Amino acid sequence: MIVMGKETLMKNTQQGKLKILQVDIGGCEGCAVNILRSLPLIKDDAELVSNYLVEEELPTSTTYDMVFITGSVCINDHHIVELVKKLREVGKVVISFGSCATFGGITRFCRGGQEPRPEHRTYQPVSHVIEVDYAIPGCPPPPQFLRAFITAFKRGITHQLRVFKAAAKVKKLSGFDLLDDVVLPGLCMGCGACELSCPTGAIYLVNRRPDLIVEKCIRCGSCYIRCPRASQILVGRYT
Ligand code: SF4
Repeated sequence: MIVMGKETLMKNTQQGKLKILQVDIGGCEGCAVNILRSLPLIKDDAELVSNYLVEEELPTSTTYDMVFITGSVCINDHHIVELVKKLREVGKVVISFGSCATFGGITRFCRGGQEPRPEHRTYQPVSHVIEVDYAIPGCPPPPQFLRAFITAFKRGITHQLRVFKAAAKVKKLSGFDLLDDVVLPGLCMGCGACELSCPTGAIYLVNRRPDLIVEKCIRCGSCYIRCPRASQILVGRYT
C-alpha cells in the first residue's frame, strides 16, 4: 500500500528524475508512439521504462513515481483487467494518456464479433477499473502535452495540473458536450481551437461558431480539453 501523498511526491522528485513506467494495453498505439517521441523533451526530468523498450517482461514488482497507461480496458479480457489493477499498486501516481485510456474514445464504438478476438466486446476508460490521478486526453496527445505535464508536476505548479486532474474524473467527453456546455449557452468566443484540435475534422466553424458532423466524432474529447471555455468549466466542476 502506498501512502505517500502526491504533494509529498512532488517535493521529493523536484531534484531527481521521475521514474516512469509506460504500459500500452491496446488501441492504435499512437499514444504510445507519442510518449516515445517525447523522450528527447523529458530526458532531463524522467527515466522511462516502456513495454516498447524492454525485451523481457515488464518489471511490475518495483514501484514507480508515475505509471502512464495508454489504450482502453477490454472488460472481457481478464488478463488486461488484472494488469491494470497491478499497475495501480506499483504506481504512486497513475495517468491515463490519450483519449482511449481516458474516455474510451473510438473503442466505445466496439460491438465485438471481430477477428482476431471476436469475444472482445466492451472497452472502458482506465478509470472504470482503477482510480486514476491525472488524465491527458488527445488522439493522440502531442509530446508537448506530456512535457508540460511533467514540468508542472516536478515543479509543483498545481494550478497547471488542474485540468488533467479534472479530466481523470470524467468517463465520457465528446463534441456533443462542447456544443452543450459552450456553444449553446453562448460562451463560445470563436477562437477556433476546437476545430484545430479535432483529429477527424468533425468540428468546423461557420461564422466563427463550431458545428459538429456527428458521424465523424470519435468521442476523443480533444475539442473540449483544448477549448479555453470548456476546460475551465471542467476544472470548476471537478476540482
Ligand atoms: Fe468556441 Fe471553445 Fe471552439 Fe474556441 S475552442 S471556437 S471558444 S467552442
